[in-house]
Amino acid sequence: MDLVGGRVVDPDGPLNRREGLRIVDGRLVEPGDQADLESDLMIDLQGGLLTPGLSDMHVHLREPGYEDAETVATGLRAAARGGFTRVACMPNTNPPVDQRSVVELLLARAREACGVHLHPVGAVTRGLKSDDLTEMAELKEAGVTAVSNDGFPVFSSRTMRRAMEYAKTFDMLIISHAEDEGLKGDGVMNEGYWSTVLGLRGIPAAAEEIAVMRDIALSRLTGCRLHIAHVSTAGSVDAIRRAKAEGVPVTAETAPHYFTLTHAALQSYDANFKMNPPLRTERDVEAILQGIVDGTLDVIATDHAPHSQEKKEVELDQASFGIIGLETSLGLVMTHLLRPGRVGAEDLVRLMSQRAAKIMGWNSGHLRAGELAELTLIDPQATWTVDPELFASKSRNCPFGGWELQGRAALTVVEGRLVHWEKSRAEADSGLLVRAL
Ligand SMILES: [Zn+2]
Repeated sequence: MDLVGGRVVDPDGPLNRREGLRIVDGRLVEPGDQADLESDLMIDLQGGLLTPGLSDMHVHLREPGYEDAETVATGLRAAARGGFTRVACMPNTNPPVDQRSVVELLLARAREACGVHLHPVGAVTRGLKSDDLTEMAELKEAGVTAVSNDGFPVFSSRTMRRAMEYAKTFDMLIISHAEDEGLKGDGVMNEGYWSTVLGLRGIPAAAEEIAVMRDIALSRLTGCRLHIAHVSTAGSVDAIRRAKAEGVPVTAETAPHYFTLTHAALQSYDANFKMNPPLRTERDVEAILQGIVDGTLDVIATDHAPHSQEKKEVELDQASFGIIGLETSLGLVMTHLLRPGRVGAEDLVRLMSQRAAKIMGWNSGHLRAGELAELTLIDPQATWTVDPELFASKSRNCPFGGWELQGRAALTVVEGRLVHWEKSRAEADSGLLVRAL
């Protein structure tokens, strides 16, 4: 397969800024090498970007237990369509990912799916309760490199301390869903102007910030590597910035909805704007953008959280938290960060591929001759309108329906195989020319 007429974007990589790539037997070869070989497929992306495969280190695939919302197969299809070659799935399934057998089940399901790599995240504590730690050694043997009680934060500081001490001995990453459950209470949206106006129970920014600061203090105490998930407030960004300056081994992620939407969206009473942590204020959005630009926030993840319609099409109080994100993330990042010039193409590759790979210990996020081809071909010119009905995800809980976005994954390649090819659209209007198949 020859990919020509594009631009390789791999910051610091040996192929950066080359104009094309050749894939032979699943591996990248130097462009021009083996020129005598007849290529089986020639793709010309005029002005397109060839990047290392995108990674999403925070998704929920709902299997086992909640297959009506998503399965490994449908979730990985959605990932491929969104340009992702690797995703990490969170352990709040039923049963949760707190023992080897569940990790093995997920990996087996992934092998039967479309080819996108799946990396299960293990639970910190058994049953996602705040009591006994999981057997992290056993989870690590099964292939787990990070643990988290995402969705069910470890409320006991003492348990979190022990978890960090234990995790550190295995060089296991702890991913923190930073939330003080008592302060969150039964809140449904950000506590502030709009919660007062709309008469909805609020979740204060402090519910997140207290937990961020606690976990930073515990990371400082234990030396355990800590990653803060889905950062949503200005105070959290500040705390992480200061901790990094001090040398605490902390990294952090945010999600596209935290820099594209505010709590004002809840005026619609539409449960597709109900997420946890909640959408925040304009000031928080500015701080998130600043944190992305200055590197305080290392990663953009989606927190892809599928829910069946019955769980969303109810009163706001009863509706589940969370939205799907795998098929909109790249378009939102390109439209709202890249096009306005807040980040460049190389920053995008760091935010959506390289840093997640580094934090999670994955052998991906770069393009080198001789290695199995794992890449995403991005068409920056493609304009499209978000229509959740067309998504590969089994769920439809997306707040971006009707939004016009510019930029999209045209091609996703894992181990030299096409796992996604936007062929019809590609041929019609993006300048992608396919010579031979
Ligand atoms: Zn979470």
